[in-house]
Amino acid sequence: MNDTSNAQTLGFQAEVRQLLHLMVHSLYSNREIFLRELISNASDACDKLRFEALSTPELLADDLDLAIRIEADADAGVVRVIDNGIGMSREEVIENLGTIARSGTADFLGRLSGDARKDAKLIGQFGVGFYSAFIVADRVDVYTRRAGADAADGVCWSSDGQGEFSVSRVERAERGTLVELHLKEDAREFAAALRLETLVRRYSDHIGFPVTLREGDGEARSVNSAQALWTRPRSEIGDDEYREFYQHIAHDVEAPLAWTHAQVEGKREYTVLMYLPSRAPWDLYQREAPRGLKLYVQRVFILDDAEQFLPLYLRFIRGVIDCADLSLNVSRELLQQDAHVDAIRKALTKRALDMLADLAKNDPEAYAKAWGEFGNVLKEGLAEDFANRERIAGLLRFTSTHDPDAGETVTLDTCRERMVEGQKSIYYLVADGADAARASPHLEVFRERGIEVLLLTDRIDEWVMQHLTEYDGVALKDVARGELDLSGVGGAGADGLAETREKEYRDLVKRLKRALRDRVSEVRVSRRLTESPACLVIGEHDPGEQMRRILEATGQEVPDTRPALEINPGHPLVRRLDSAASDGRFEDLAHVLFDQAQLAEGRQLRDPGAFVARLNRLLLELDGDPARSPAEPGA
Ligand code: ADP
Repeated sequence: MNDTSNAQTLGFQAEVRQLLHLMVHSLYSNREIFLRELISNASDACDKLRFEALSTPELLADDLDLAIRIEADADAGVVRVIDNGIGMSREEVIENLGTIARSGTADFLGRLSGDARKDAKLIGQFGVGFYSAFIVADRVDVYTRRAGADAADGVCWSSDGQGEFSVSRVERAERGTLVELHLKEDAREFAAALRLETLVRRYSDHIGFPVTLREGDGEARSVNSAQALWTRPRSEIGDDEYREFYQHIAHDVEAPLAWTHAQVEGKREYTVLMYLPSRAPWDLYQREAPRGLKLYVQRVFILDDAEQFLPLYLRFIRGVIDCADLSLNVSRELLQQDAHVDAIRKALTKRALDMLADLAKNDPEAYAKAWGEFGNVLKEGLAEDFANRERIAGLLRFTSTHDPDAGETVTLDTCRERMVEGQKSIYYLVADGADAARASPHLEVFRERGIEVLLLTDRIDEWVMQHLTEYDGVALKDVARGELDLSGVGGAGADGLAETREKEYRDLVKRLKRALRDRVSEVRVSRRLTESPACLVIGEHDPGEQMRRILEATGQEVPDTRPALEINPGHPLVRRLDSAASDGRFEDLAHVLFDQAQLAEGRQLRDPGAFVARLNRLLLELDGDPARSPAEPGA
């Protein structure tokens, strides 16, 4: 059947070679997934043909019944997966079975460690597809013919998965694709009838095309119900079936954490089945990464990755939407403008958020896992989706001063329930990391009064929290911003003290303001500090440290705003400052106070050299008569 005169030998793209190598080593204990991947591809090929045939019925010719056939030859150690779907042209074969088109693939593969156990998880997340055939086969032959092409334009692709493949033109009477696996010596079990049948039943029962299995020369027998899973009543679908179907559409080795399935009737009729995966795909943060649901219109497959049905911040949800009312020749562009789609997106968004809320309520441990994987993406919703802000806020999880070692587990509801007498706001702190957060001087007065503060350390937190100023009627406040007055709130604390001190230290405040005029907007006596000598406070609407970095990184102008310096007169250093006689010494102390406040919050100094020089001058003075210290300017 092979005409070798037109054979062409080509090398795999470097990424494919790398993937093949890694996959064979790391997915060894998951070898049977090759069958799911090949059946998925066959089913996709049938879906695509059915779709193209809507506008070009001739493509189906006289072969109207789309189906998938599995053939097993135990003696020869051969398995075949055959479909009469769309098939491939020679160019498509070279493109599809020789390269990986998805951008960022090289980066992804570069991150793999070579440790088979760890890489297995990552690779599964990548979605291995056709190439998984080489986990069990030492040679794979593909015979294919594009629907509508002549029998003479069949293509044979063949490879041992080592680095090259050959393509040649063959005569092929049937349309569609035949993938023939020559099993490795240690994988021959996959040609055994019983083993194969169990796997085929498991992987194909929910597929909307008939799947048959034939052993040797025997009769082909049907092994699935050929009814698309989402079209069946929920009560008749087992959890295992839901999980298998997820793995089929998501190419994920792992089970999903949750799902929601609904057949909606009325003004807009549709069926939706959405899943919450148990881990993030490798390209969750890449702009062009595929996302969205698989779109069907009345059971006919239309599009993969229809992103119009869910907002960007729910891009980790996978699933299927089957609409009754869309036109069969709908395109991505048309979807974007369709009012129907808009309304469905609103409903699906709510449904997906409900799924998350249910999981959080019924299985907090599973939700914690989801939060760890997708929390940062979900947070984007605070900025993106005004209508659902409150719902999203309820799903947030925080680290808190009340339970600092429990990780991100505290909800806004819990925090509100734990508000102390007189407390009107929920407080939070944005910092660069857990340690910096805990050590922040801004927490001192809260600690003293037993008021809970949420600790936010993700790089987008400042930005998202700008959009969440209130939860369930309670204001949310950044403890490092604006003036703070906790008089009457919580325990301890000498409320009247601040006023007296303000008067007492008026001159010192003025003198400090003069010394630091280029660095601060204001100096004031603090109502925040109980231990540290000073801290910096940004204005209510000024960009904080994170926001500055984002602005800088994206080439935008960073507003020239300065923080206020707050001092703690209870601290000996501040008292010492008050008694500093010479201007030079005062200035050194003032700048060190400012810089040290930056350091205490885990920030970097703009001019570390100047800080060190000042500090050294002050240290030297400790030893002797300040007046004779040679390094002090102006002395
Ligand atoms: P994926 O299915 O995730 O795109 P694969 O590596 O499994 O990745 O397949 C690559 C491409 O090869 C598919 O997108 C499809 O275009 C093509 N392909 C694979 N199997 C078939 C098949 N049985 N019939 C037609 N095209 C196929």
